[in-house]
Amino acid sequence: MSGKKAMSAENGKMDLSGVTIEDGKVAITEYLSIDLDKETWHCRRCDQNLGSARGPYKEALVVYEREPSEIHDPVIDPEKYAFTYAPDPDWCRIIEYYCPQCATQVEVEYLPPGHPLTLNDLVLDIDSLKARHAGGEA
Ligand SMILES: [Zn+2]
Repeated sequence: MSGKKAMSAENGKMDLSGVTIEDGKVAITEYLSIDLDKETWHCRRCDQNLGSARGPYKEALVVYEREPSEIHDPVIDPEKYAFTYAPDPDWCRIIEYYCPQCATQVEVEYLPPGHPLTLNDLVLDIDSLKARHAGGEA
C-alpha cells in the first residue's frame, strides 16, 4: 500500500504523488479514506460512511474503554505488588475506536483520566485537497 503523503517545507504544497486512490476516495490513514465528491469519511475495509469529512470521523465510531492491564499484562504478580508494569488505571485510559459496520479497529488513544477524547485529531483542508485532486496535481 502506498499511502504516503508529504508536505514540502519549501512551498507548503502537499505532495500527492504517493497518495492512494481507491474507488474515487483518497486514502488518509490505513483505515480511513475520504470521498472528495461527497465530502465524507469512509472505512477502508467496508466502505461504511463515517460522516462529514469536515467533521470528526470518531463521532461515527464505536468507542470502547479498555482496562489497561488487559492490553499490557502485568509483568509481576498483581496480588503481591501494587505496581506491576501494567499501566496504572488511575493514570492511563486506553480508548479504542471501531468501525460500526465491520468492527475494524480504526484508532487507539492513551489518555490521562479526565482528558476529553481527541475527536479533532485529524482536521484536513478539504477545499485544498479537492482543488489539488481536481487539478491533477501530483
Ligand atoms: Zn468498516
